[in-house]
Amino acid sequence: MILILAKKKKTMQTIRGFRDILPENIALWQKVEKEATRLFDAFGFKEIRIPVLEKTQLFSRSIGEATDIVEKEMYTFADRKGDKLTLRPEATASIVRSYIQHKMYATDPIRKFFMMGPMFRRERPQKGRYRQFYQIDAEVFGVESAYIDSQLIFILTELFKRLGLTGLSAHVNSLGCPDCRPSFQRALLDFIASKKDRLCDNCLRRIDKNPLRILDCKVTSCKDVLQDAPATLDHLCNHCEDHFATVKTTLETQGVDFIVDKSLVRGLDYYTRTAWEIQTTTLGAQSAVAGGGRYDGLVKELGGPQTPGIGFAIGFDRLVEVMEQLDKAPQATALDLFLICLGDMATEKGYHWSCALNQNGIRTEMDFRGKSMKALMKRANKLNAHYVLIAGEDELIQNAIILRDMNTKEQVSLPVETLVPELIKIFKK
Ligand code: AMP
Repeated sequence: MILILAKKKKTMQTIRGFRDILPENIALWQKVEKEATRLFDAFGFKEIRIPVLEKTQLFSRSIGEATDIVEKEMYTFADRKGDKLTLRPEATASIVRSYIQHKMYATDPIRKFFMMGPMFRRERPQKGRYRQFYQIDAEVFGVESAYIDSQLIFILTELFKRLGLTGLSAHVNSLGCPDCRPSFQRALLDFIASKKDRLCDNCLRRIDKNPLRILDCKVTSCKDVLQDAPATLDHLCNHCEDHFATVKTTLETQGVDFIVDKSLVRGLDYYTRTAWEIQTTTLGAQSAVAGGGRYDGLVKELGGPQTPGIGFAIGFDRLVEVMEQLDKAPQATALDLFLICLGDMATEKGYHWSCALNQNGIRTEMDFRGKSMKALMKRANKLNAHYVLIAGEDELIQNAIILRDMNTKEQVSLPVETLVPELIKIFKK
């Protein structure tokens, strides 16, 4: 006897940190997309769609060479011609590139954009942290006024309120501008001069490249050392002081709760003045659901005219996780009608009826496998159909197709000729 042992094939899996978002989980994503789009539209933001792939240089120049993202987390590769390309780790740099490339500043320097889509960072995956994750991003160009800073924070809190989120807090800080940065940098360097032996290698390297980045270090011993480090907030020039004061009073007047958080520096180099983060208590370590800030030097840095800029990014995956925890998932949409058509003639008619009903926006399905009445009833229940239509040979001969309400079990008979318009009338009521 020859025994053939079939070798079990290993099924393909997603790569680490990448995941499918399955149809059974999509309702929340769509709810957020809809609510965000409606809000952005009311505030005058236009949607922009940017490529997933850009030249590496765009990100290293804007996000900063000495940042975690650029040093460790980007998916960078050479294409067949040897050009260095990177999967976008965030959206701001690309939107700034687009603003400059299409000379948008020439026709109207004031622009407001939003976009939603995937970003890629090779971080250590854990709950709330993925290598492909999604952001909802908003950017405003050409407005220096502090009212825009407040307005962006207001939009964020308004969106979260509409989505029913609780347990969130807005942390705001000012990172100063190129005028006040040198005084802060000197104070920081003085502070760490005697503590270098307690800093990690990464921080030591960053002292020369960009000392501000040290404040962003996640290593516990560095965090301990830097607990009493000087803060940008204590070194603001008069203009930055005034700007930050307006942001705070405007938020207070609008009833937006916020905490001034001197230690908030954000992990990207381009920020100036106001920076903020919305944090949640429901997600453990990954507490930031959104972050943003002003970047008044970035358009110029990337080759455009001096133009102020400011924006935020919401962590879409985290937002959805918070909503799941708060049980904010909308009910799955049920099927309006399931057609039970028995026999060839009824099946053919049923096919045309169902397409006509679908065209009219009525959620209709039928099964083409030639199953029995009992099996099809079971399927209608599984699909959570509100109504079933029963069309067998008898019903066709008698010209009386049965429509049954699956909840009340009430039935009505409908003639074949006017079946579709009658059903449309019933479902559009
Ligand atoms: P950032 O672009 O780093 O300011 O991030 C903005 C928001 O995106 C954060 O507040 C997070 O909610 C989200 N985010 C950043 N990195 C990840 C990641 N690896 N996985 C999931 N969400 C992320």
